[in-house]
Amino acid sequence: MIEMEEINTMISGIDEYVEPMIDFLTRIISIPAIGPLSEGTGEMEKAEVITEFLLESGVGEITRHDSDDERVPSGKRPNIEVFLKGRSSRRRIVLITHMDVVSPGNIDDWETDPFVLRKENKRLIGRGVEDNGQALTAAIFAMKNMISTGVTPFFDVSLFIVSDEEETNEKGIGHLLEKGLMGKKDLILVPDHGDPEGHIIETVEKTLLWVKISVKGKRCHASMPHLGNNAFRASMMFGSNVDKMLHERFNDEDISFDYPLSTFEPTKKDNGVFGINVIPGEDVFFLDCRLLPHYEVDEVLDEMRKEASKVENKMGVTISVEPYLVERTLHPTQPDSPVVIRLSDAIEEVTGKKPETGGIGGGTCAAMIRNAGFQVAVWETIHNSAHSPNEYIEIENLVKDCKVFSAFLAQDTSL
Ligand SMILES: [Zn+2]
Repeated sequence: MIEMEEINTMISGIDEYVEPMIDFLTRIISIPAIGPLSEGTGEMEKAEVITEFLLESGVGEITRHDSDDERVPSGKRPNIEVFLKGRSSRRRIVLITHMDVVSPGNIDDWETDPFVLRKENKRLIGRGVEDNGQALTAAIFAMKNMISTGVTPFFDVSLFIVSDEEETNEKGIGHLLEKGLMGKKDLILVPDHGDPEGHIIETVEKTLLWVKISVKGKRCHASMPHLGNNAFRASMMFGSNVDKMLHERFNDEDISFDYPLSTFEPTKKDNGVFGINVIPGEDVFFLDCRLLPHYEVDEVLDEMRKEASKVENKMGVTISVEPYLVERTLHPTQPDSPVVIRLSDAIEEVTGKKPETGGIGGGTCAAMIRNAGFQVAVWETIHNSAHSPNEYIEIENLVKDCKVFSAFLAQDTSL
């Protein structure tokens, strides 16, 4: 039995690590680690720096689970596992963080270089500080602090620092799942989404459906519209009809989600014609739909196709409605699952407040792990500036999350 006092002393020791944590973040933020779909060279250089740091500070046993990828210069996408033996091997705590980042976008939108960490008052600013630098740093330092204070985690711990989270997950989480590196009894935490108070533990994401819509008419000169059939006009009509139909037909509300309704958003539009004097023969656009989990993807697509045939008949065009990407929500994590209970206790221990569970629109790799049949909690304390220019975190949250991870690893349990 570990004394609560011992855990509390260990946790308060984290205050000493503020500067080392900022130094570590400064080092890793300086290495972009962008995936090949965004014309990046991958994560290898960053992985080497992280691995070197882990070895230097003796944080745990390190294993690499790199996957092959011809698209990057090293030919590999690195995945690091840091293992720490616990007092019990009955279960294992699994923390999953990622080292890749999205491109900084338009550099002019940044006040300073996105890859040079900037400290401003109580904030740290740079590409990747929030997504996923804060959690990655907090997890490493939670383990480092346990070792230096001589506190053994209750269960075995595996911290995974993966690649490819921002693109397909195939070379990171997907690779780990394929290798069978996660188990049903694992307590899996993905600190890659959260709220500014750290009040919500995310247990479910909406079903993701991306739809590609292609409208075909007949191209001709803009001065002679009777010789063609304007695909753009038909596309606008379909777009506006289908938008109305989707919002009316699939309008159930679930207030446990951060946004309680299903969402249907027209987003990307393919280039049509380049000349202003050309009536386009084809128009292509995409919808990003996020459905409350009880809705069926096929039902949504069927309703869209019904709407399409009305516009086809009226406008003499052909419209194809095709799913581009589908990620169904198959196994939401139960609010009373062991991982959620243990994490709630840890959060309450550190902050004095009991968190709640809820759902989000999606976008974390937890969905993929849940669909493989595992229970996963998603939690951290952030202001949701990921992927934006001048991405930032509050230093206070970095420290607080490190403390929560420490309690999560150390606490005694009967689970
Ligand atoms: Zn992320």
